Amino acid sequence: MSKQKKKTIVIGGGAAGLELVTRLGRDKHDEVVLVEPSSHHFWKPRLHEIAAGTFDEELDAVSYLKHALCNKYRYLQGRMTGVDRAAKTLEVKTAEGRLVTEHYDRLVIAVGAVSNDFKTPGVASHCMFLDSAEQAHNVWQRINPLLRAQGEHRISIVGAGATGVELVAELAKVSQKLSRYNTGSELQITLIEAADRVLPMSPECMSEKVQSMLEKQGIRVLTNTRIQQAKSGALITAKGEVIESDVQVWAAGIKCADWLTQLDGLETNRIHQLKVLPTLQSTLDENIFVIGDSAECPQPDGGFVPPRAQAANQAATHLAKQFKRQRKGKDLQPFVFNDGGMLVALGHDYAVGAVMNDRVVLRGRQVRKLYDTIFRLHQQVLFGWGRVTRLMVLKRIKCLMNPYYNGRA
Ligand SMILES: Cc1cc2nc3c(=O)[nH]c(=O)nc-3n(C[C@H](O)[C@H](O)[C@H](O)COP(=O)(O)OP(=O)(O)OC[C@H]3O[C@@H](n4cnc5c(N)ncnc54)[C@H](O)[C@@H]3O)c2cc1C
Repeated sequence: MSKQKKKTIVIGGGAAGLELVTRLGRDKHDEVVLVEPSSHHFWKPRLHEIAAGTFDEELDAVSYLKHALCNKYRYLQGRMTGVDRAAKTLEVKTAEGRLVTEHYDRLVIAVGAVSNDFKTPGVASHCMFLDSAEQAHNVWQRINPLLRAQGEHRISIVGAGATGVELVAELAKVSQKLSRYNTGSELQITLIEAADRVLPMSPECMSEKVQSMLEKQGIRVLTNTRIQQAKSGALITAKGEVIESDVQVWAAGIKCADWLTQLDGLETNRIHQLKVLPTLQSTLDENIFVIGDSAECPQPDGGFVPPRAQAANQAATHLAKQFKRQRKGKDLQPFVFNDGGMLVALGHDYAVGAVMNDRVVLRGRQVRKLYDTIFRLHQQVLFGWGRVTRLMVLKRIKCLMNPYYNGRA
């Protein structure tokens, strides 16, 4: 008699969740379900390209419906809203607004994180965010008309982590390329950071190089500057300085969604990440796993896995292997993040990176290619090398024919 298949439900089809369902679906040993509210997957580290109008959706967005069909998992378009751990059921609000209950044998939560406004007054209503493709599109809808209108336009980005730095560099590049078309538009871009340097989580020499590159591109970089309030058209610093802006984007810090703190008693930390054991199992329930930005996963050195795309991908690969071990009755192994270094893109043709445990800082066009490799490796897991190669060739051809930004409204 054939063994009954276990049902694994993965919540969130981002960097971690989509790779996991791809691997599990292809394995065909379990019944696999992906719960995800969006219709298409976008690689989050490229959201700044959507916001700057340089992302190619035709080539680089993934339809969940089609991907699920090709990789033997079920895609349920909706949002997880709660869990009953004793009954092993979860509640999902579907895209049509229905509430459905799904039974699981294993639950994997991979819902990522969002920007943290640290409850700063006015930020939620007067700043834009870059946490989803939809929000990135909204930023582009605001910036695109400015790029076509004569005069000076002020754009302020709060937070000089990877997101903020990549966004200002991409916008500066677009603005510079567009000046060739004599639109008469000029962007004045300000990057604001509370810490004493840009990329505060990276080695200092990398911060210095990145800041000097940004300043060479005409970007005003304000460090040691804490925003105390956001108003319509202005940011107010702790020292009372008023930074007037036509568009203001908040890209500082991260936290997880509030509903994670109400998951049938599961433990969370200060920024609402779910606490897990080194095996990625939640501290209070061995059938609930958490991977990616929404997990606080301890490491042998006493620290935690950082909220990075690379870590999300590694955790997905690790968990797929562990589920195979579980099937064979073996113990789960701990997840240890292997840090391959930090790379930050400064436009489409330049990147800066710290590798070899932050001992070496690299920069240039070749480093930008290395940066792209991380995205291509993600695509390779989703589609295999054949399709990735075709996508890369198509992209080359399209780049030769199209301007740097897509110019679509
Ligand atoms: C603009 C930007 C630039 C970045 N650049 C870099 C970089 O250069 N290098 C780097 O390492 N990292 C970078 N990051 C961070 C990186 O993107 C994240 O660490 C990574 O995406 C985390 O993967 P994840 O799977 O945990 O979450 P995500 O990729 O965020 O995926 C979470 C998924 O969960 C879904 N979801 C949310 N709520 C629910 C719910 N209730 N029910 C079901 N599904 C839900 C979301 O729709 C989403 O698809 C960047 C992030 C941003 C925003």
